[in-house]
Amino acid sequence: MGSVALRDIRKSYGAVEVLHGIDLDVTDGEFVVLVGPSGCGKSTLLRSIAGLETITSGEIAIDGASIVHLHPKSRDIAMVFQNYALYPHMKVGENMGFALKMAKVGKDEIDAKVKKAAEILSLTPMLDRYPKQLSGGQRQRVAMGRAIVRDPKVFLFDEPLSNLDAALRVQMRAEIKELHQRLRTTIVYVTHDQIEAMTMADKIVVMKDGHVEQIGSPLALYDRPANRFVAGFIGSPAMNFLPAKVQGGQTVLEDGTVLCPAPAGVAEGISFTAGVRPEHLSVASTGAAGQVTLVEPTGAEIQFTVDLAGTPVLITTRDRLALRPGETLHLAVEPGQLHAFDADSGLRLE
Ligand code: ADP
Ligand code: MG
Repeated sequence: MGSVALRDIRKSYGAVEVLHGIDLDVTDGEFVVLVGPSGCGKSTLLRSIAGLETITSGEIAIDGASIVHLHPKSRDIAMVFQNYALYPHMKVGENMGFALKMAKVGKDEIDAKVKKAAEILSLTPMLDRYPKQLSGGQRQRVAMGRAIVRDPKVFLFDEPLSNLDAALRVQMRAEIKELHQRLRTTIVYVTHDQIEAMTMADKIVVMKDGHVEQIGSPLALYDRPANRFVAGFIGSPAMNFLPAKVQGGQTVLEDGTVLCPAPAGVAEGISFTAGVRPEHLSVASTGAAGQVTLVEPTGAEIQFTVDLAGTPVLITTRDRLALRPGETLHLAVEPGQLHAFDADSGLRLE
């Protein structure tokens, strides 16, 4: 078992509060990803769960029992860091078994646990190598192996893939997800990369400035972002935002261009921020017109930018359109794919 409950977690450094009351429930076996821009408090929250930071107030419980008073070693948690922190003078097997040795576990038991973890992580042929004889991805796996041998209730990962190149990051992302599907251990995973969050998580926690902005499944956050920040943070390329108003039942842009029908829940005459994802816009024969300013083929798709009522709007398409900068196009929004946010608070309307 390994459920985690955080209640009203606050953390201050001196007079500066950096976590402003975080509530979160992680169910046993769940893969939860904390995501948000650098400095929003992800590491501080993770380190607080591990006991490496002392929280200023609040409650942290594992399987219903408070762990706030417990030393990090007694919390039944294993943490994997960005920089792996392997011992260079110890072989892979020794690195993986070291925590157990320190805990006075018998040699046979350590060997058995290291052997099993090495099999899980495809590290068996590398047990007698030193860390410097491994690739970045293999070192990352050793760091995970060190956590696995301890058989903790909860795994904590702090940006474990940040030191890897792009291709390896994609591979390790899949490996960690597969590992979770096999072991079914509770994971709380920190990243600033929304693609990592989307692809790996059962549940995403979007953070900003020491607050939780929204908690939900990857697709729930994509389909119904609770506010403009989440809308712009989740999804790649990012959602377009346009100042708009409801007039005659239509979404009308600042220069009078009619974009699409008014979204549900926004009354006649109300100004709002219209949000539309690049993949939910397409070229049409009539409708909102704008000038193409940039064409960027990525291979699988073409990304192009259209100036719409003075706002650059990005569109992605899988159609091999022959687009030229300077030409005028009509755009259509896929029905039901317009998001509406309060012009001031940024909160989702409806
Ligand atoms: P993230 O991991 O999301 O990038 P952190 O949790 O590391 O963010 O930091 C959150 C905030 O707390 C930042 O503003 C950071 O400057 C501040 N902070 C982190 N550690 C300390 C510390 N030891 N002393 C003072 N401020 C800190
Ligand atoms: Mg961090």
